[in-house]
Amino acid sequence: MPQNEARKLILGVDLGGTKIATALATAEGEILTRGYCPTLGEAGSQDITGSILRTIEETMSLGKVRVSQLLGIGIAAAGIIDSDRGMIITSPNIPNLREVPLKHAVEQRFGIPTYVGNDATLAALGEWYFGLKKSVPNLIYITVSTGIGGGIIADGKLYTGACGIAGEIGHMTIDVNGPHCNCGNIGCWEALASGTALAREAIREIGKGANTSIAEIVGGDLSRIDAKVVFQAAEGGDELGKKLISRLAYYFGVGLANLVNIFAPELVLIGGGVAKMGDLLLQPAIDLVKERAYVALAYDVEIRPALLGDDSGVLGAVAYVLGHSGQM
Ligand SMILES: [Zn+2]
Repeated sequence: MPQNEARKLILGVDLGGTKIATALATAEGEILTRGYCPTLGEAGSQDITGSILRTIEETMSLGKVRVSQLLGIGIAAAGIIDSDRGMIITSPNIPNLREVPLKHAVEQRFGIPTYVGNDATLAALGEWYFGLKKSVPNLIYITVSTGIGGGIIADGKLYTGACGIAGEIGHMTIDVNGPHCNCGNIGCWEALASGTALAREAIREIGKGANTSIAEIVGGDLSRIDAKVVFQAAEGGDELGKKLISRLAYYFGVGLANLVNIFAPELVLIGGGVAKMGDLLLQPAIDLVKERAYVALAYDVEIRPALLGDDSGVLGAVAYVLGHSGQM
């Protein structure tokens, strides 16, 4: 590879609750090589950091790339991330990751600039930069799966707030008397409109004796109920499934209307596993935004599925490096 092209590759890492995914990519977002390693939930922070370093090394070796050819390494990690210091403060699905100086560990090993940010925040950046080619100045990206996360592009820039932690949209209070959330608060958006919330409500209704096919689908093992199962039941005409999804869509729409009122984005992109369930969730939520959002009187916000799918994390991490390197 000629020297003038030598530093144009970026290594993106997506550190999630179940896996570490890596991608060696060009500045245009073309993925050349991928790496993968399971994240063991009970592993200590040293072991997880070691797995990240090893997976980065393996990805570079697979792509036949030397450290000197990399512009930098970006890491999208689940949890509260102090991106100024590149430190994982806490991570909901990997409880052993507390106060982990990840940027420091990676820079010590590889000697190149490394940037760490929240996975959903970086996914917003990846969707905007690689997916939308920066075609709108204001974007909200929302990921709905076991929880709800998101990121905000405002005036053509990632909105990060103090220490880079802005965008915890899943923890805005939607119902002051609502269910407890993992964050310690009550009635958060993700406690009402995530896949976990959907499964919890299904189990509660079955416990109260509801007549539903949901229990049959999981062979009576209620611990196997997840959002997919409830959607499957609803699509088969199950009344409880339909009722629960319409409740989920309602709360999802309420949160969306709040975000639209605050940010007035041109576009809202919805990603994550629950969003893959499609129009059963999205259409009623969009209708509710038109009905409830005050600013909807002035303009039509576009709300549609995200573009990058499972690559939003790694490509977001790649975009984050480009942003820090002044190449965005
Ligand atoms: Zn919360």
